[in-house]
Amino acid sequence: MTTRARELLQNVFGFPGFRGEQEAIVEHVADGNDALVLMPTGGGKSLCYQIPALLREGCGIVVSPLIALMQDQVEALRQLGVRAEYLNSTLDAGTAAQIERSLLAGELDLLYVAPERLLSPGFLSLLERSRIALFAIDEAHCVSQWGHDFRREYRELTILHERWPSIPRIALTATADPPTQREIAERLQLEQAQRFVSSFDRPNIRYNVVQKDNGRRQLRDFIAGHMGESGIVYCLSRKKVEKTAETLVELGVTALPYHAGLDAEVRARNQRRFLREDGIVMVATIAFGMGIDKPDVRFVAHMDLPKSIEGYYQETGRAGRDGEPAEAWLCHGLGDVVLLKQMIENSEAGEERKRLERRKLDSLVGYCETMQCRRQVLLASFGEAYPEPCGNCDNCLHPAETWDATVAAQKALSCVYRSGQRFGAMHLIDVLRGVDNERIRQFGHDQLSTFGVGHDLDARAWRGVFRQLVAADLLEVDAEGYGGLRLTEASRAVLRGERAVMLRKELPRKRERERNGRA
Ligand code: ADP
Ligand code: ZN
Repeated sequence: MTTRARELLQNVFGFPGFRGEQEAIVEHVADGNDALVLMPTGGGKSLCYQIPALLREGCGIVVSPLIALMQDQVEALRQLGVRAEYLNSTLDAGTAAQIERSLLAGELDLLYVAPERLLSPGFLSLLERSRIALFAIDEAHCVSQWGHDFRREYRELTILHERWPSIPRIALTATADPPTQREIAERLQLEQAQRFVSSFDRPNIRYNVVQKDNGRRQLRDFIAGHMGESGIVYCLSRKKVEKTAETLVELGVTALPYHAGLDAEVRARNQRRFLREDGIVMVATIAFGMGIDKPDVRFVAHMDLPKSIEGYYQETGRAGRDGEPAEAWLCHGLGDVVLLKQMIENSEAGEERKRLERRKLDSLVGYCETMQCRRQVLLASFGEAYPEPCGNCDNCLHPAETWDATVAAQKALSCVYRSGQRFGAMHLIDVLRGVDNERIRQFGHDQLSTFGVGHDLDARAWRGVFRQLVAADLLEVDAEGYGGLRLTEASRAVLRGERAVMLRKELPRKRERERNGRA
């Protein structure tokens, strides 16, 4: 078996050897066993079902939710001489019927199908009459209600096991936090399947997180160290995508926007250019990227906070698939946290879901605020231990300095308290710094005892204080209301002088700039 698998790998796919767990997985599935494969993006999941499909008699049926990806894969396979087809809503009836006939006639090695198509009674009965090598369930995390890619039809895929108990199934995903992993196994009835968990480390990606104070200017500084490179810049809103793309174009960068509000045609054209040309920067909402296989993306920049660590990992994972150095840059501020918290509270979701989303956001904020090695924190969230600090993240390269912020924290907390626990950080910082403006006078905040007591720190430093106090649960965001800040249970000890507060020193802008680009 092994030698035949290697022959196929070399002769059909043109690769000298298997990577990581691939060989073990191929053998396991080719032998007729079920598998649950957790491998990072770019790890090489496709071969894990493509080769067993070629080794076994019959056609490998691949369930995939991504139409664009299906087409790419099938095209690539055909060029290698593999008899591959796909069935989805983009095909006309005649073509689809033709493909179904080939399947029945045993003329296909691999058939990619969209889940809704697979589950249609007509197609299931066709499968009854065909010879099936295996079922591959790609993007298996779509079965999880908690992920952002939930697909209802994935829940019904257990029918494959019920109707064809002896045909091996292989489910694959790049999302692998332990709860999702458990849910996949349970929902797809793969509890008995052997699990193949690869390391999720992407050693060539350098992680870098900066405090946001003028996102667009900071992005400009960052991009200056990456001129001429392909990259992706993620923004939360469509409007911001447009604006950011314009800013970059003014800088002489070939930047293209991508979001769901653009014409399908424009989107497709921009995507094509990104894939084919060098040095294009795609500015996008998270709608962009699922299934994008461009090996030489040199950086992924986040202008806004993603919603979860898994999302962040997936998005940053699009950088450096060729193994060459790449950078993941994230610019985050308290404003993002407030906005995302409000989005969670104001959503239609049930309480259980909201609780989960709050937890996910908190762990992402924890990642942003950590003074530990970022890779260690990132991988730990996937249940993976990374023994030593990595030496390739901002915290490893430039260890954070801390300062005793107890007095500053006391000033901040008492300013929150005295102004009535309903204002946001921007206003509070103005009060602390003794700024004379309309709003402050309107509320009579120039009369507060905390007015002007914080002129020893600049606004940037204060932003860092407030953001870190929220992250440390010494302040909380009133996310159901206007996003004002309130004291928490824990704040009292600080106000009473019973608890010291050590915070990370925010970098002056100049030093942040110096750290951009390749060190
Ligand atoms: P995933 O689906 O896990 O994101 P892919 O299956 O698309 O990853 O593979 C990512 C890239 O790695 C592809 O360009 C693929 O051709 C390449 N690749 C996969 N396995 C090998 C291998 N054994 N040797 C060399 N290249 C490989
Ligand atoms: Zn590190």
